[in-house]
Amino acid sequence: MFDLQTYHKAGSVEEAIALLAANPDSRLLAGGTDILIKLRHGKSGFAELIDIHGLAELRSIRKDAEENILIGSGTTFTDIIESKLLQRSIPMLCDAAQSVGGPQIRNMATIGGNICNGVTSADSAPGLFGLNALLQIHGPDGLREVPVAEFYLGPGKVDLRRGDVLVAFKITPENYAGSFGYYYKYAMRDAMDIATIGCAVSLKTAASKVSDYRIAFGVAGPTPIRCPKTEQAVLGRELSAELFDCIAEVVIGDVNPRTSWRAAKDFRLNIIQELAKRATHKALQRALHPAGQKEGETI
Ligand SMILES: Cc1cc2nc3c(=O)[nH]c(=O)nc-3n(C[C@H](O)[C@H](O)[C@H](O)COP(=O)(O)OP(=O)(O)OC[C@H]3O[C@@H](n4cnc5c(N)ncnc54)[C@H](O)[C@@H]3O)c2cc1C
Repeated sequence: MFDLQTYHKAGSVEEAIALLAANPDSRLLAGGTDILIKLRHGKSGFAELIDIHGLAELRSIRKDAEENILIGSGTTFTDIIESKLLQRSIPMLCDAAQSVGGPQIRNMATIGGNICNGVTSADSAPGLFGLNALLQIHGPDGLREVPVAEFYLGPGKVDLRRGDVLVAFKITPENYAGSFGYYYKYAMRDAMDIATIGCAVSLKTAASKVSDYRIAFGVAGPTPIRCPKTEQAVLGRELSAELFDCIAEVVIGDVNPRTSWRAAKDFRLNIIQELAKRATHKALQRALHPAGQKEGETI
């Protein structure tokens, strides 16, 4: 049974903000694939829901006049997989969406809910870290933009204040145009499993060298993380077999995974080295054979 006391259906973001302000113990419901489970387990500490599921203003993927790509927080993982714009411009996000749950979960679960729950295993997080995504958050005091890396305050803790609604993710052209990326998820089984480790790599090449390199992990620390030492070590390197040795060696210094019932720390470190190499290899394949990743079409 759900221990639910009140349920409000918001007709707009403005109404959701007002409802949140008027009901201090309430929580937003987007796809409900996390929050309804918490509610059902009876340990949630809240019993009021404000439903933003299906709000059209939160569910779109588009490019604006400045070439920023805007992904609404209410966009489902199925929307992301099917988006022509993302398939061509940022297929790494489609990789991540494809790795989430099963078809029913991907049809309901939103990218906004995936980030707002604050967990390190969120499959969309490493890609958004690599893209320096900006979170557009509407609240009682207006709109603010928060870099995704600053949004995570700790395990399960994010920079959302009372009355805040995450509206969209903004990815600026300098963070995706000309870049090629890949998201690699390792889980104990291929479907319906949370990541043991998730790794996103986004890179650019020029004159047979790496001219831009970003690598981010989920479950390699208490929150998703970027790997500054690895990024620094790889920048400017020749595309060669030694590149992969360098990544595997340096990446260990950037991460801090823990032992849990799912996997031991040593095992995770091993997977981190392997995924770093594999995700880089896949991203390089896309860079060197970029047929599927062109600018242009919208959703
Ligand atoms: C069977 C199963 C399999 C799963 N597999 C995976 C997986 O493989 N990978 C993975 O990453 N996750 C997985 N999950 C977890 C979950 O599906 C995802 O985290 C999902 O993206 C959550 O989105 P949602 O829209 O359902 O969020 P909800 O449950 O609606 O909300 C989650 C939290 O975010 C808040 N929130 C939602 N939208 C907003 C907003 N716009 N502004 C502010 N706060 C907001 C809510 O108040 C709530 O606290 C799985 C879950 C289940 C049940």
